Amino acid sequence: MTPRPAVFLDRDDTLIECRALPAPPPPAAHGDLTDPDLVRLLPGVLDGCASLRKAGLALVVITNQGVIARGGASPADVERIHDRVRHALSVNGGCLIDGIYYCPFHPRGLLPEYTKEHSWRKPAPGMIQTAATELSLDLSRSYLIGDAPRDIEAGEAAGLKGRCILIGTDCTFTQAVTQILSQTAHPTTSGLSPARSPPRGTAP
Ligand SMILES: [Mg+2]
Repeated sequence: MTPRPAVFLDRDDTLIECRALPAPPPPAAHGDLTDPDLVRLLPGVLDGCASLRKAGLALVVITNQGVIARGGASPADVERIHDRVRHALSVNGGCLIDGIYYCPFHPRGLLPEYTKEHSWRKPAPGMIQTAATELSLDLSRSYLIGDAPRDIEAGEAAGLKGRCILIGTDCTFTQAVTQILSQTAHPTTSGLSPARSPPRGTAP
């Protein structure tokens, strides 16, 4: 399989609302999302992800979930949230997301099994590198969208320098998508359908 280009997507405050939510019960804290019922896509995310998939880009979520190390949520809780994210990012029964990777480790946790620094924890590039291997992704043609400097650092450490977009005050998710689509030279293919034959009259 020819490696595909991808867009790596941070989760919290990039795809779904997080900071604006009320603080969850301790030991989780403000900025942690622990309740699947609170999963809400941010404006422009569904359309933006659909456009990226349509352009032939794989979509991979990479998210630090140190809340697990701090005992505020279990891996099963985080998986339940990710089921909601996949459901919210589905079109006509097809999920737009190719993979979700999360890092449960944190150097200052409460649970010993998750209390350590780890190569998956952004700004380290481990999740991106693992996804590239497991999902056969071409990092030399891939992009990243995130709302925090550590997202950008992780992308740059994985070799995506110049192709990482920080969203927030100066750039919306939709603008980031437009920027990526203007840079990709890939012909339009449906991200949700099997590969199509070339149009008639096109050289093989
Ligand atoms: Mg974030």
